[in-house]
Amino acid sequence: LKDMYDVIVIGSGGAGLTSAIQASELGLKPVILEKMSTVGGDTKRASSGMNAAETFVQTEHGIEDSVGKFYYETLRGGHGQNDPELLKYFTEHSSRAIEWLYKEGVQLDDLTITGGMSVPRTHRPHTTEPIGAYLVNGLLEQVRAKQIPLFCGAKVTAINGQDKVSGVQVQTANGNQAIQSKAVIIATGGFGANKALLAQYRPDLSKYKTTNQPGNTGDGILMAEDIGAQVVDMDQIQVHPTVQQDTDHVYLIGETVRGEGAILVDQDGKRFVNEMETRDKVTNAINKLGGTGAYLIFDQSVRDRAKAIDFYNSVGLVKSGSDLGELAEKSGIDGEMLNQAVDKWNRSVSDRLDMAFGRKTGLHVLDKPPYYSIHISPAVHYTMGGVKTNDQTQVLKSGGEPIQGLYAAGEVVGGLHGSNRIGGNSIAETVIFGLRAAQQVRDYFFDM
Ligand code: ADP
Repeated sequence: LKDMYDVIVIGSGGAGLTSAIQASELGLKPVILEKMSTVGGDTKRASSGMNAAETFVQTEHGIEDSVGKFYYETLRGGHGQNDPELLKYFTEHSSRAIEWLYKEGVQLDDLTITGGMSVPRTHRPHTTEPIGAYLVNGLLEQVRAKQIPLFCGAKVTAINGQDKVSGVQVQTANGNQAIQSKAVIIATGGFGANKALLAQYRPDLSKYKTTNQPGNTGDGILMAEDIGAQVVDMDQIQVHPTVQQDTDHVYLIGETVRGEGAILVDQDGKRFVNEMETRDKVTNAINKLGGTGAYLIFDQSVRDRAKAIDFYNSVGLVKSGSDLGELAEKSGIDGEMLNQAVDKWNRSVSDRLDMAFGRKTGLHVLDKPPYYSIHISPAVHYTMGGVKTNDQTQVLKSGGEPIQGLYAAGEVVGGLHGSNRIGGNSIAETVIFGLRAAQQVRDYFFDM
């Protein structure tokens, strides 16, 4: 570690890697500091994809979409509480972010759909690798190619400077060190793995497990607050509806499984919700079942389309049966009812009319054996709140004025998602605002 860089990027998830690469492309000398021993944060765990509208990928797939629709559906998903300035920038720059990724060799050329959207807008790779690992590995290649210094086991403990940033304090195996820089980009992710912060803002969620990696403890939010940053929406915490948690390891089951056709049933074998509703609504419906959790039910065709299922299967989360009766028995669900539920569902798909719950997307008949199930229940997944920024990614004080040289991007920022995040918007946020942060830092340097 040198004692001076142009810009210090804290965190090595999607936002950190993107902003460091873009900073380097714009002629700056960045450094990435990651406190954990591995790179990628929660980004590496992402499983749905990256939402973007009016992209060339959508055009190639014959999908008609619009920035306006993207804006409106995100706002509706967030119950109108989204920060309009951030949401406007976000939706208007998503297509460019997809193009930038292509240029970097990260090709999200397949499309799927997640809860709360009307057309396929969730871009994902064609590979068997889920989006998170694919994206992080792709960006890491660029970090290496551009020889951007990246240090793991380097925990930032404070941001120096009051109204104007002058660097950070960092803790490594070699002790404490002050590093100077004119600009700092906070890309430390959320605080889903910080029990104390969760208890402070949402004591009612203490019973839940989390899908977050242990490093996501909200450090960036706390450090920014220490130098006067404003925080917003800290009590807006997303519980993800479909998480497998019967073993010690908590596995989020990606929304593409439903997007590609899976249904949800309760222990009695009955459907109970529009599976393609937003995450908060599906979570509430599962909670009403009284603690039993629910079961994703799908067939071989869904498995062929949602490639992540092979991974879930390899770690033992998937039960299978040559017919629905066998599957029900192995899963502990009522077999006769399950048969009826699937029959009824298949008729709804043929009629394109789900009378029971009004599902309109991810409509595929389930009729190709073997059949599969995954037992799921909700877990803490994403913290919508965080530091307040403007659409130039500048971190703002309580009076609204920016802290000079301090930028933030990714989950650490609050406001974009309102009170409920749409699946696929998190990856999009890290890339769109990661790029933006680096561009703003470049302008800041020019202005000095
Ligand atoms: P995003 O999706 O917003 O990019 P991620 O969760 O993917 O966020 O990545 C955030 C990264 O920041 C994680 O790898 C996490 O370990 C790292 N991080 C969190 N706090 C610190 C800190 N104090 N110093 C260095 N790295 C940190």
